[in-house]
Amino acid sequence: MKVAAILGPMQAGVAEKPDPRPKDDIAVVKIIAAPMCTEYYAFKKGDLGDCHGHEAVGEVVAVDKATRVKVGDRVIVQPQTACGECYVCQTGDFIHCWNNRDLLKETGSEAGRATMGQYILQAERWLTKIPEGMSYEHAGMALCGCGPTFGAMQLLKVDAFDTVLITGMGPVGLGGVINARYRGARVIGVESNPYRAALAKELGAEAIINPSDEDAIQQVLDLTNGIGADKSIDTSGTEAAKPFLMKTTRCKGGVAFVGWSGEVEVNSILGRGLSVYGAWHYNLNDAGRLLKMLSETGPQLDKLITHRFPLSKIQEAWEIQVSGNCGKVALYPWE
Ligand SMILES: [Zn+2]
Ligand SMILES: [Zn+2]
Repeated sequence: MKVAAILGPMQAGVAEKPDPRPKDDIAVVKIIAAPMCTEYYAFKKGDLGDCHGHEAVGEVVAVDKATRVKVGDRVIVQPQTACGECYVCQTGDFIHCWNNRDLLKETGSEAGRATMGQYILQAERWLTKIPEGMSYEHAGMALCGCGPTFGAMQLLKVDAFDTVLITGMGPVGLGGVINARYRGARVIGVESNPYRAALAKELGAEAIINPSDEDAIQQVLDLTNGIGADKSIDTSGTEAAKPFLMKTTRCKGGVAFVGWSGEVEVNSILGRGLSVYGAWHYNLNDAGRLLKMLSETGPQLDKLITHRFPLSKIQEAWEIQVSGNCGKVALYPWE
């Protein structure tokens, strides 16, 4: 099978790997689309390798003893392969499992853990069936496109009474705009890239504030009766976003962190009485609700996905991500 490979700094190509084999509860999925995420950091740096990506949707093409899925099923491939037994797995928060399985070792396959390739291995428990009538591309937004911010919205209990502030209008933050608008909330975004700021407005954000403006904090306060946003979500993963949110979220409001990295000062949480959440993914028991949301926001998802590339154009696909002038980018391993 063909997989995406990093050949040097800003240099990518396609590599050949042996096809993976199913075993026990582990199925082989033919990847139809792989939404691209943060792998471009490695492309930029030149971290050599040919196992990239954690987002995929596709068709089950081979099973051994799996009973929950069968050949021909259309599925969302959930990230990682949690143990399925521990308390977080049992309650749906599998993303926080500390006992991930080694599927290459279990199946004796040489490859099959990258989503940016033609086939992937996954335990059947972590394959979510795609509802009839939903396109693969829309279903793919149940991964990082709309998933982590959906998880944040659930934790923060976002509804129509809320003004939600989202820092970072990259693909994840843009998915946050779709999620918040679906729930009837008002959205203020923070973004400096004009392409992404314009896209966020198209998706329904009321105002986009440039974080380089000296009065950026005051602009949020002016839009929120001087008290700050009810709920806020960082998707930027930048250092600067954390103190910014601590000054622009109202007292007794909620903050969710989706973007990795950065530091938060305890006194700023205590002083405002904030509730703080870590939202890596979403609880799998809420997958039905997320899929319902995706089934009703198709036109917005079509705007969120701004670029599509065949695997042979992986170089161009990563280059556009490095430029920042894109929303979600989808890779097609069989085209
Ligand atoms: Zn577990
Ligand atoms: Zn991702």
